[in-house]
Amino acid sequence: MDKVLVFVEIKGDGPRKVSLELLCEAARFAQNGRFSVEAVCIGRLPDAARDKLLSYTEKLVHFTDPELAVYSPEGYARALAGYAREGGAKMVIAGATGIGRDFLPRVAVLLETGIASDVTGANWLNEPMTFVRPMFGGKVFAEVVFSTSPVILTVRPNSFAMGEAQEKGGEYIEKTAGISPDTIHTKVVRVEEASRDTVDLTEADLIVAGGRGLKAAENFNLIEELAGAIGATVGATRSVVDAKWREQADQIGKSGKTVSPKLYIGAGISGAIHHIMGMDTSKVVLAINRDPNAIIFNYANYGIVGDLFEVLPAMTQELKKRKEG
Ligand SMILES: Cc1cc2nc3c(=O)[nH]c(=O)nc-3n(C[C@H](O)[C@H](O)[C@H](O)COP(=O)(O)OP(=O)(O)OC[C@H]3O[C@@H](n4cnc5c(N)ncnc54)[C@H](O)[C@@H]3O)c2cc1C
Repeated sequence: MDKVLVFVEIKGDGPRKVSLELLCEAARFAQNGRFSVEAVCIGRLPDAARDKLLSYTEKLVHFTDPELAVYSPEGYARALAGYAREGGAKMVIAGATGIGRDFLPRVAVLLETGIASDVTGANWLNEPMTFVRPMFGGKVFAEVVFSTSPVILTVRPNSFAMGEAQEKGGEYIEKTAGISPDTIHTKVVRVEEASRDTVDLTEADLIVAGGRGLKAAENFNLIEELAGAIGATVGATRSVVDAKWREQADQIGKSGKTVSPKLYIGAGISGAIHHIMGMDTSKVVLAINRDPNAIIFNYANYGIVGDLFEVLPAMTQELKKRKEG
């Protein structure tokens, strides 16, 4: 059987949602008996996260070297590449998160193979397997095949559906990768967790984003109220972040976060390519702009040409009414 490794990332006390999505998708395509799937965790693994992971995988391999306790691209890459090589893995998959995008290319280099990054779709059972990834700001979707082995992928969050947790727990194996401290050249000095009640933008199903059309920081309450009414996470354009109306953590785009929600609502956003590059794989896009020629409408499934100062409160009120009724 061809071995598939899914790198699982821990955030707080639990695995990241994208890691569970990938384990579920891998379990689905492994059903034909051609693949065996293992989850690989490196460094910190709280008990609650381990228990949850074991209900989504038949085998969880955990690298516990003290040198890997804190993330470093060199350490993680060596551990994962070493394990892939040792077991003859045919595929190594991780979420296209900050960490996944940072160290999976190094895994590909160590294994002398290629990588498809930001994958949003796959035909696992094709021969050869084909993967879909956006290019040129989402204007083109490229189909990628590998001429080398193993296949290395980073996959955007929300690209594959979550499945149900299994009652029967998987097998848990602790390992060390034998990483020598002098192979790690970067040192994490401090980790600052943003204290937030809402779901992280990169994993959010629903996003309401605002741009410069909001005119002032205080007007973002219109975005927050609509987001509150549907349980969405708030996003912003870079212009808004540069103007200090929102924190950098809210920025969507080329120099911000890449998001793939089920629904993206953008108000007062022109649709500059740098912004589009961060949201072009949203499943449904609703754009609100008073300019009928705004570029964002080219990427929208639904558009409202109107003044956001009228449209947003009306939408919020209607949604609240429907929720209460
Ligand atoms: C290297 C580089 C990296 C970049 N990275 C990013 C990035 O990561 N993310 C990002 O977002 N940008 C990024 N940018 C900036 C990007 O090019 C745009 O300048 C920016 O996205 C524009 O933001 P905006 O849509 O909020 O503002 P604008 O382009 O000013 O658009 C405002 C829109 O609001 C509409 N509007 C105004 N008033 C109303 C109203 N009352 N009702 C309804 N609509 C209204 C207008 O018609 C207009 O379309 C980057 C730029 C560079 C050069």
